[in-house]
Amino acid sequence: MPLVYLALGSNLGDRAAHLEAARAALARRLTLRQASRIYETPPWGYADQPAFLNQVLAAETGLGPQALLTYLKYLEAELGRKPSFRYGPRAIDLDILFYGSLVLETPLLTLPHPRLHERAFVLVPLAEIAPTLRHPLLGMTVAEMAARVDAAGITVWEG
Ligand code: AMP
Repeated sequence: MPLVYLALGSNLGDRAAHLEAARAALARRLTLRQASRIYETPPWGYADQPAFLNQVLAAETGLGPQALLTYLKYLEAELGRKPSFRYGPRAIDLDILFYGSLVLETPLLTLPHPRLHERAFVLVPLAEIAPTLRHPLLGMTVAEMAARVDAAGITVWEG
């Protein structure tokens, strides 16, 4: 079975509880092999929002890439549901970083994740568990990619 790498992020409500709920839900359909520590990372995109907690997991799954994405989208909706905010921001974001060494580009799914090499909040936790993993298109290892991004403000979250 291919090893898949998933990125988890939350910046709403009880962020650590959201990550924990996501890990528990993912374990229903995937066999979790490795988990990075949890990092607190500055908001990106819109600066005017709370800091994120981010974590990267390695897992094995019998789900194909599209089915895995569908499952992640289902979990995002299930875990992010808030009784008082029908269309509120998501409490949890789940992305597929790598699906083995698969290279794929469809309207719904691009693998490896098209922006992972730019994102310190992904590369720092990923480098903790898979520094020698090589990007099949860029040819760089995760450690090499992590060394090229600005990791300022990213800290291990102590709870
Ligand atoms: P997001 O940025 O999490 O809101 O994701 C927006 C959309 O990106 C998703 O609905 C997916 O269809 C698409 N997408 C493309 N590639 C990926 C990937 N590798 N992992 C997760 N979502 C992806």
